[in-house]
Amino acid sequence: MIKAIIFDLDDTLYYEQDYVKSGFRAVSRYIGSKYGVSEKEFYKLQLDILEKEGRGKVFDLALENFSLPQDEVEKMLAVYRSHNPEGIRLYEDAEYILRKLKREGKYKTGIITDGNSQVQWNKIKALGLIDLVDEIIVTDDFGVDKRKPAPFAYLRLLESFKIKAGEAVYIGDNPLKDFIGARGLGLKTIRIVREKGMHIEKRMEVSYEADFEVNTLRNLEDILNRIDRGDSCD
Ligand SMILES: [Mg+2]
Repeated sequence: MIKAIIFDLDDTLYYEQDYVKSGFRAVSRYIGSKYGVSEKEFYKLQLDILEKEGRGKVFDLALENFSLPQDEVEKMLAVYRSHNPEGIRLYEDAEYILRKLKREGKYKTGIITDGNSQVQWNKIKALGLIDLVDEIIVTDDFGVDKRKPAPFAYLRLLESFKIKAGEAVYIGDNPLKDFIGARGLGLKTIRIVREKGMHIEKRMEVSYEADFEVNTLRNLEDILNRIDRGDSCD
């Protein structure tokens, strides 16, 4: 019997790129007011670099492009990490299911998320998740070595919920890290594949993939019932 549902955060409960854009807007305001460059152009440039080069080099290349001092990178990172996210909201189906689960109280609920602690907690607060689930673990609060797929956070929630691994399900979007650790412990796993998201194209060998795959959380309870009946995946 499934007794607890544990969710990933980014690209599972909301669209992560909305947070990234919100951060870029904050950084653009900072750079714009300090150096008198166009906030709009600096913002657009960051998005272009993100699309072409990926996340790692955005701030360095944007500064280079505007001939601004490279030592601003650290401050930009601080602005990005500390800003209050604007324009991020739960996916409609995520909000629906979280509210329903809370109202009905049949399952314990939790979130396990990796990433910079300040960033993840700012997202969690902006999305109103603290009141919607029973437990939240930001793995970086305990050390970067506790990031998924490390067993630490899963075990901590199982203990807190006083349940066995086979009584919990983990729902995430990233087959690189969301399922292999959880499955190793004996949790059931569900992959959400949405229309957009950083990991939707990734396909991994079977041990990294989830037991079930869905494209909305709206019918989550049907899957949980199938798990309880002992059905295998599609
Ligand atoms: Mg994710």
